Amino acid sequence: MSTGAISGSRTLHRLIYASRQRIPAAEVDEAVGQIVQVSIRNNREDAITGLLLVHAGWFLQALEGPAEAVLTTYGRICNDPRHSEAKVLQAGPAEGRQFGDWNMCARRMSPADDALLDALAMRASFEPNLLTPRAALRLLTAVQDIQTRTQLQALR
Ligand code: FAD
Repeated sequence: MSTGAISGSRTLHRLIYASRQRIPAAEVDEAVGQIVQVSIRNNREDAITGLLLVHAGWFLQALEGPAEAVLTTYGRICNDPRHSEAKVLQAGPAEGRQFGDWNMCARRMSPADDALLDALAMRASFEPNLLTPRAALRLLTAVQDIQTRTQLQALR
């Protein structure tokens, strides 16, 4: 869901975490669809924007917005039984929104995205919980670029 590119503010915070999926493989698409639906509604109310990467049994998510809203949302997310072992990779003030186009957008990596994982040397072993803050942000912004291109192509 597009936000019309919400702009940042002095209180803007970004939190990135990785967690392990606790969803049967056959149900991941449906579960992610439900998560995105609820997240768009909640995040829009809380002025949160972000991106959720779904790959190889992992979630990697960025949340941006007012600090209190981001932390409250993350607290709710941590209690969700659909994943576990959530590990914060980055949390703190941010100068601007990197994911301002979406209240929440999820991308499940497909074989077509392997080139990205190759470029980032992440295909052989994908362990997002070990990423540095910088690498996690780089991966999510690269995924966002692919997602944007995919959506633009679909519109043509
Ligand atoms: P309620 O609907 O009252 O749910 C009560 C409890 O049940 C909560 O612990 C909830 O997590 C859990 N629950 C809800 N639906 C299911 C289900 N189908 N199966 C199992 N347990 C369930 N929410 C956001 O608002 N913004 C986000 O950006 C966001 N990102 C998420 C990313 C991931 C990887 C996951 C797993 C969840 C995410 N959620 C997000 C959903 C979030 O965890 C909550 O389910 C949602 O915010 C509603 O919370 P609630 O306590 O009001 O829900």
